[in-house]
Amino acid sequence: MQKKYGLPLIETGVIFRDNIKKGTELGNKAKEFIDRGELVPDAITVPMILNRLQEADCKKGWILDGFPRNLAQAEALGEALDKAGMKLDYVIEIILDRAIAKKRIMGRRLCAADNNHPNNIYIDAIKPAVKDGKMVCRVCGCDKLTVRADDQDEAAIDKRHGIYYDRSTGTLAAVDYFKNRSRVLEIDGAPGVKEVSQALLAKLS
Ligand code: AMP
Repeated sequence: MQKKYGLPLIETGVIFRDNIKKGTELGNKAKEFIDRGELVPDAITVPMILNRLQEADCKKGWILDGFPRNLAQAEALGEALDKAGMKLDYVIEIILDRAIAKKRIMGRRLCAADNNHPNNIYIDAIKPAVKDGKMVCRVCGCDKLTVRADDQDEAAIDKRHGIYYDRSTGTLAAVDYFKNRSRVLEIDGAPGVKEVSQALLAKLS
């Protein structure tokens, strides 16, 4: 989608993880919340994203991933867009059963050479390859596949999902907030990565 539309992809989780790696003040603040599976406070996250949307590469549009994650963030984004005379063209909701989502999170493996190489031990279509008895990246063969600590902590995952599936103030409430302001595209997340991305591109065209 990013390639097709040539828009910057802004992923809150990636911004936080980059900052943690670099040891910035933002990263140090965010880390404790991320490790526990809690949201980084809105007072940090909302201005971080609204400022990012003001940067030059966002002039033609952007794709947000992982934001807004609760109703307060949705309202802050909605108000900022209203002020700028803009609206979200689409909100994409990928619908997935909570137990399957948990398994997919725990199966995620990160390629040290390229974060965008998808590997998951529980999804047949993107299972890591095996070389000399060792799991390697299925895209580039890199033998450094790692996991995110917060992806292996079941209590942290349950907390993240508690926030996500909460229809009163959580992520699903954020989706509902945009239902009468934008087009919400509901995509079935159960099939493989390829099928999900094809279904999404078909709905966008
Ligand atoms: P993700 O990479 O999207 O799974 O996000 C990893 C973690 O970053 C989440 O569990 C939160 O702790 C934090 N995070 C990501 N997006 C947000 C957000 N919009 N608001 C607050 N915290 C966030």
